[in-house]
Amino acid sequence: MSRGDERIGELLEKVWSKGAKLEDHGRNFQFSRWKEAIEELGLDEKDYLGAKSTDAELPWDMVDIGISHEYFVNELKKAKEVALTIDCRDQCIGCGMRDMVEECGKLTSDNLKKK
Ligand code: SF4
Repeated sequence: MSRGDERIGELLEKVWSKGAKLEDHGRNFQFSRWKEAIEELGLDEKDYLGAKSTDAELPWDMVDIGISHEYFVNELKKAKEVALTIDCRDQCIGCGMRDMVEECGKLTSDNLKKK
């Protein structure tokens, strides 16, 4: 679900229409109901499972929170290298949010200590 695109909404509605209510992975989860809904909608489970290429558009790219795709890709690379990103309250590292949020970058750690 968390890796899904806008088609997952249709899947949820379809499964709900088939009787799913507050399912969990325990006693009331019916995989066959999900499988049936996936087939009826013409979805392919492989589109949602496994590795995703960062070169392609990602399902959540349509959500614009100001941070660039390139920044996220670089952060992923750093996470795999167990490399840290500096605290941007001390120095902006250009994630892109500044273009959206006027106050961004003005909340420095020094300012926080004064409060
Ligand atoms: S200061 Fe703002 S724009 Fe700069 S890296 Fe931090 S969150 Fe991004």
